[in-house]
Formats: sequence, structure tokens, C-alpha cells
Amino acid sequence: MLRNDPLEQWDRDHFIHPSTHLAQFARGDMPNRIVTGGKGVYIEDREGNRLLDGFAGLYCVNIGYGRQEVAEAIARQARELSYYHAYVGHGTEASVTLARMVVERAPENMCRVYFGLGGSDANETNIKLVWYYNNVLGRPEKKKIISRRRGYHGSGLMTGSLTGLGLFHKLFDLPLDRILHTDAPYYFRRPDPAMGEEEFSDHCAAELEALIEREGADTIAAFIGEPVLGTGGIVPPPAGYWEKIQAVLRKHDILLIADEVVTGFGRLGTMFGSVHYGMEPDIITIAKGLTSAYAPLSGSIISDRVWKVLERGGDEFGAIGHGWTYSAHPIGAAAAVANLKVIDDLGLVENAGKVGRYLNDRMAEALSGHPNVGEVRGEGMLCAVELVEDRASRSFFDPGKTVAAKAVGAMLKRGVIARAMPEGDIIGFAPPLCLTEDEADTIVRATKEAVEEVCKAV
Ligand code: PMP
Repeated sequence: MLRNDPLEQWDRDHFIHPSTHLAQFARGDMPNRIVTGGKGVYIEDREGNRLLDGFAGLYCVNIGYGRQEVAEAIARQARELSYYHAYVGHGTEASVTLARMVVERAPENMCRVYFGLGGSDANETNIKLVWYYNNVLGRPEKKKIISRRRGYHGSGLMTGSLTGLGLFHKLFDLPLDRILHTDAPYYFRRPDPAMGEEEFSDHCAAELEALIEREGADTIAAFIGEPVLGTGGIVPPPAGYWEKIQAVLRKHDILLIADEVVTGFGRLGTMFGSVHYGMEPDIITIAKGLTSAYAPLSGSIISDRVWKVLERGGDEFGAIGHGWTYSAHPIGAAAAVANLKVIDDLGLVENAGKVGRYLNDRMAEALSGHPNVGEVRGEGMLCAVELVEDRASRSFFDPGKTVAAKAVGAMLKRGVIARAMPEGDIIGFAPPLCLTEDEADTIVRATKEAVEEVCKAV
């Protein structure tokens, strides 16, 4: 660590980092890492480390670091028109072009897009649109939103409430009213080990329906879910899950919001996770992969069905009172247009499917025999290794042992970045979609060595 470096000290003294133990950080009891450069799947820091980023930043740098065509598109946009707003019918060439490109790539029946800045604000928009929708339809009581335990939908007030992880509620007085949580489709932690996948999906759908009936379907507006649970542990759904959930939602006239902040634009090997799982959402949340994080931009893609009601709202009630200064920011839009072209030109959706499968297969081969590996799971370019104290009973390690965090630390020493997911001992991987098989091998090797080293030590 560059202990005497002034930048390191300014960081400790002045910078409040998100999702960080503030006291430990300020005292210097935990490392900081000031990142200086990136190329392909690698980043570099001020200490001269070159690290393979197995989490693509925060599952967002999908095309990899340092793509010059995106940098140039951003610079061009900044020179020609750094900003103009999108209120009252205004726009820019970049934002209009992007709207067209997003709808062209979206699943059938999705017709329009509202642009924001990040995943959290996009989900705030979605909640507001769903409430607006039911107000226009004359159903002012139909407002509650159901999310899942272990779901992640942001860290705003309402979106932090949707998030089903205790860490994001604790000391913030969340969740707020109108947000309900149902079971996670977490097959590894199913209530009865004898349950098959379809049976467990039936169980999740029955739990959902029981909640809807308890609350009254006429009070519930929407259900929100990530096609694959991300921050909650990288958990692909069990067989039949989305089909059974959607049947319940249709029966009770409840909208489906697919939060594709992680899965949108190729991560599962299809342009959208909704397509991968046969979901028919009314709204899709996009962010991260939209620009590969070259600039902040998010969006809410709206179905014909929802759009018709929004349009009717305009005719009956006037202009919609919702917008951010930076909605559809032209620099974000220019970055997104260039990013989507890179995804097409390099065939990254296909690569995510192919190399993602390779990564998952190699990881399972290398680790699933280890006595402390409960499960290796994943889909597309998402992979997780769940560590357990005892395989047969799937028992948790004492959380105080921070086994996954230690394993991730041991991987860093081997030059590979993974992420200890916030609940349980789960090592998560979400590499850039341009990963090669050789790079996947490097990730697997580092994981195997780190898991062996750390599990022996604890
Ligand atoms: N939804 C999902 C599925 C996410 O993974 C995230 C961020 N990890 C968000 C929403 C929130 O996005 P942001 O951090 O850009 O606000």
C-alpha cells in the first residue's frame, strides 16, 4: 500500500465511499485501491498492479475497458453539443438515435423508452409509471409492488425498499410502505432438499399467490424481478419459474417489471434476459450494459400495453410531471450508441453465451468436488461459487469468518478480481462480455487456488 502517498491520504480524509465500512476505511484499517487505467478485461492501479476484472467493474463494463470508438464518440458529442435537455419535446440526435436502437433490440411489444442516469432512478421511474398507470385506469388502490427477498433494484428510498437485502435497509428505516417481498427462487436453499426444480417453482408461485390473496389483488400494481438474481447471490431461476410466476401475475392483473440492469444487452447470451427465459414484461429496466459504463445512462423500456395508458393519461390529465435534468444526457446517449455498435460488431452477445458456458463448465469441473463448495452455478457470463461449512447439510460458515471475502482477497493476490456477494459466502463473477477462454481459465485457476487456501485456513 502506498501509505505515504498524498492521494491515498486525501481518500481516507475526504471521500465517503459507497457500500464501505466508513470507520475502518477512514482509519486505514482496510485497503483502498485507486484505479488509473484499463484495457480489455484488465485494470491497473496506482501501485502498478494489473488485475483481470472478473466482475466488469460492477457488472457493467461489458465491452471491456479502453474502447477508443466509444471514447471518441463521447469526445465528439462533448465538442458538438455537451448538453441539451429532453423536456417538453426537446432531444438530441444521439438520444433520438439511441431510443430507436434500444427499441429495435428490445423484445416484441416494447415500443418506447424513457432515459435516466442509473439503475436506481430508472426503477424509481418504473414505480411512478406503474402508479400513474393505475391512476389513469381509475384504480387508485392498486399500488403495492412485490419484489423478492435477495432481489436488488437500487439504493434509493423506494428502490432500496424493493431491494430484498437486509444490509440495504438497516438503519435507513426501509422498506417503506407499499413494498412487499416474496421468496427468492433460490433452489440451492430450497425448504426441502427432496424438491425438484419444477416443484420448487410451483412452491414460489404458490407463495406469491398467497401473498397476493392476503393483501388483495386490487391493491397490487406490479411485480419486479431480475431474470437472474444478481447482487442477491447470482442465482438463476429454477426450471419453470418465470412461466409459473407470470401465470399468477396475469390472473391477478399485475404488471411485470423485468429489471435487466445486469442482464440487458447480452450478459446471458441473448440481447435480453427476458427473451432467454420467455418472460413477457410490461416494463424493462436497463442501465449498466447500455453504455458499458463509459458514461452514466439508464432507461425504462415500455410495452405497447403500458404506453397506451400513458398516452391516455396525457389526453386526460396533461403533461407528465416526471423528469431529471440529465434524462437522456447526450454524452450518455452518444456513448450508448457507440457501445451498442461495438456489441454488434464484435458479436459480444454470442461470445457471452459461448465463453460464459465455458467459464461455468470449467469452474464446475475445478471446484464442485471441494468439500466446502456447496454449489457452482451461473448462466451466460454470470457465475457464482457458494461456499458452505458442510456440504451435506449445506450449512453456512459463521459470518464472522468472512470466508468469501477472504477468498476474494486471496484471488486478488493472484491478479484476479471477483466479488464477495453481500449475503452468504458467495463468490460472484460477471466478467466483460469480451472475455476469452484463456482469460476464463485464469479466473478459474485463481478461484480454485484461493478457495483451497482459505478453506484450509478457516
Ligand atoms: N437493478 C439491478 C438489477 C442492479 O444490479 C443494480 C445495480 N447493481 C441496480 C438496479 C441499481 O443500479 P444503480 O447502481 O446504477 O443505481
